[in-house]
Amino acid sequence: MATQRTFSIIKPDATKRNLTGAIAAKFEAAGLRIVASKRIQLTLAQAQSFYGVHSERPFFGELCDFMISEPIVVQVLEGEDAIAKNREVMGATNPADADAGTIRKEYALSIGENSVHGSDAPETAAEEIAFFFSGLELVG
Ligand code: ATP
Ligand code: MG
Repeated sequence: MATQRTFSIIKPDATKRNLTGAIAAKFEAAGLRIVASKRIQLTLAQAQSFYGVHSERPFFGELCDFMISEPIVVQVLEGEDAIAKNREVMGATNPADADAGTIRKEYALSIGENSVHGSDAPETAAEEIAFFFSGLELVG
């Protein structure tokens, strides 16, 4: 597997508890390089668009309200097999099911307030990176 890029969000529950550095350290310890990073606050329209795939799910409103409740940190992570590696470091969506040592096991509060987002496939990674970062913000 060649070097790959993936998109990550440190979610409001984590930025609020000042866990940005602790979570970034987990990425770096796993061999993922943070090649772009910024702290932003989403509008409701941006949150609804980003999570549009879940618009029919019962938790959609709650999810979007949560994602705009505090600033988030959006990042591009690079490394060997970065998409799968990031999801491994994140752990299962529900922290109750997450493996020991993963970000969600250590830091997530609930299935909704679960500290991080990570792209799930090469196509979504490319779309999500382009949604948040311009070419100028991405180093070769
Ligand atoms: P993400 O897309 O954020 O990386 P994921 O791929 O592990 O997480 P998805 O199934 O894509 O999980 O769900 C997107 C997000 O929606 C979850 O991370 C979580 O914040 C929220 N979510 C998922 N299921 C529930 C649920 N049953 N109740 C409340 N929120 C949920
Ligand atoms: Mg997902």
